[in-house]
Formats: sequence, structure tokens, C-alpha cells
Amino acid sequence: MYHDGTFATQQILAENPDAQVTVYERNDVISFLSCGIALYLGGQVKDPQGLFYSSPDALSKLGATIKMRHDVTNIDNQAHTITVEDLDTHETTTEAYDKLVMTTGSWPVIPPILGIDSDKVLLCKNWAHAQALFEKAASSKRIAVIGAGYIGAELAEAYSLKGHDVTLIDAQDRVMPKYYDQAFTDKIEQDYVDHGVKLALSQKVASFDTTATGVTITTDKETIEADLAILCIGFKPNTDLLKGKVDMADNGAIITNDYMQSSDPDILLPVIVQQFTITQRAKMPTFHWQPTPFVKVS
Ligand SMILES: Cc1cc2nc3c(=O)[nH]c(=O)nc-3n(C[C@H](O)[C@H](O)[C@H](O)COP(=O)(O)OP(=O)(O)OC[C@H]3O[C@@H](n4cnc5c(N)ncnc54)[C@H](O)[C@@H]3O)c2cc1C
Repeated sequence: MYHDGTFATQQILAENPDAQVTVYERNDVISFLSCGIALYLGGQVKDPQGLFYSSPDALSKLGATIKMRHDVTNIDNQAHTITVEDLDTHETTTEAYDKLVMTTGSWPVIPPILGIDSDKVLLCKNWAHAQALFEKAASSKRIAVIGAGYIGAELAEAYSLKGHDVTLIDAQDRVMPKYYDQAFTDKIEQDYVDHGVKLALSQKVASFDTTATGVTITTDKETIEADLAILCIGFKPNTDLLKGKVDMADNGAIITNDYMQSSDPDILLPVIVQQFTITQRAKMPTFHWQPTPFVKVS
């Protein structure tokens, strides 16, 4: 529960102080600002604790019951129950709900590339990933960032600012092609080159070979040696728990009405895993950017 769950809990308890809100989170932190990972790596944010804006204690004080390190493993929407595993004791319980707010967010896309399951191929999403990136940055001179979308672009900039040798790899022929026209990406690419970032565009990663000293990345065009590779090729909605139970788009985004209800009116969705209608979209505040390619406008 990073953002949607935190805000949903705050909002529900602000408007309905008598509501019994129970929060289940499989991790041991909440409200981590993933957008700060690059800022911390680049040195703009000095203290990683500044990347959190709430805590389990703060939500408890509002009146919520917080169950950290609890994994929801099943939703029975006919019975209005969820199955929850306590990840410390491995005890499994069944809990009843009247309304279920689903804020399970997204998870990085991990394609079945040979050798991808390596401690030198990292993801960039949650606090655990951030800690691994922070820790390994010190001993990794050569960094390969795979994916030149917003997240990869930010990481490449951050590592280069800190003096790493950075290679930015993408299957497309431009950086951030989904977000900017070529007139802009030409300038951005020149900026990368001026700062020593090697652009490996129009090439797809075919395999990773982990060695004692680093990782060899073979694309369909060349071989790139790095100490660390970071996969930033997109996210998918974390909605498997509701598969077959509510209406979904092909990509797993859940279709909702104007009241954020799924096709099961007792299951409500936050912004991230929904599919919006144009009317809903028009009412939304403008975000700094839209990183979730699975949020579709219909
Ligand atoms: C590197 C990076 C940079 C970003 N930068 C920006 C930015 O600058 N601006 C911006 O607007 N957005 C940015 N984003 C996107 C933003 O972080 C996401 O949109 C936001 O995190 C979504 O919040 P969420 O709470 O819906 O989902 P998530 O943050 O994905 O949280 C979901 C939570 O649910 C928990 N969970 C999932 N399944 C279960 C289960 N079965 N049982 C128990 N717990 C479960 C997970 O552990 C997780 O804590 C960035 C994202 C990344 C990765």
C-alpha cells in the first residue's frame, strides 16, 4: 500500500470516523515515493526517510487497524471474504468485508529473457528495490538501464550525474517516444550524449549472462558489459486476485463506473488499476506524469 491505499484510508476515516478500516500490506512499509528513487541516487534527496510521507502508526492513529506483512491470497466476492496470510507466522485466516477497496497497484513487467533471474538485474519499483539500488550503486561503475521511458530516463540521468558509466537501452529508436515528439527527444538524446550516457537504441535485449564481475547483456545488435542492469520496461496492473470476478480490460485494468465501483459494486478501485472513461479522465487532476501504461482511456 503505497499511495492509493494510504489516501483511501485517510479519506474514508476523515469522512466516516466510525468506519472499521483494516489495511493489509504484504510489505513492511507504506507510502514510499518511488519517484524519489532517482532523486536519491542523483543526490538531490539526501535522506531516504524523506521518501515516506505516512506510516502504519500514523494510519493507526486515525483509527485504522494495520496488518503489515499480511498477504491477501484470495478474494471470495460471493461470500464477501478475503483470505489473508500472516507472512511472519504463516497463519492463514478468512476475514469478512462489507466493502473492499483494492489498492494492489502494479508490478514491473519481467519478460522471460534468458538469464534475467540474476542478482545483477534489478527492478525499480518499491522500497526493497530502492534499497538494493542504493546499496549496489556504490560498487557498480557501469550501469545499464533497460527501457528509456520516464523511469529509465530518470535513472540514466541520476547515475550519470553521480559519475557512473551509463548505457540506456531501448527497443525503440528514440528515448521516451511515447511522451515526446522527435524535436524534443533529439535534444534530450544530445543532452545524454553530452553527459557521457551511451544510447543503445533500436535494439532488444536477448539475454543476460551474469559473471563474477558483472553482467553481459546481449542485444540483437551488440554486447554490453555492465556491473548492474536495471529493468524499466513497464508495469502491469496487479489485479490477478480479481480475475474472473469483476469486468477487466484485456490488459488487466479493472473497468469502473463514475463512483469507482467495479462490476461488483462492493469492490472499489483507486485510480491506478482502473480503466477510465473520458468523462472520468476529464475530471482528474493533471499528474506530474502518467507512468502507468495500463490506465486506458476509452
Ligand atoms: C521509479 C518510479 C518513479 C515514479 N515516479 C512518479 C512520478 O514522478 N509521478 C507520479 O505521479 N507517479 C510516479 N510513479 C508512479 C507511482 O509510484 C505509482 O503510480 C503509485 O505507486 C501507485 O500507487 P498505488 O498505491 O496504487 O500502488 P503501489 O504503489 O503499486 O502499491 C500497491 C501496494 O499493494 C501491496 N500489495 C499488492 N498485492 C497485495 C496483496 N495481495 N496483499 C497485500 N498487499 C499487496 C504492495 O505490496 C504495494 O505496497 C513512479 C513509479 C516508479 C516505480
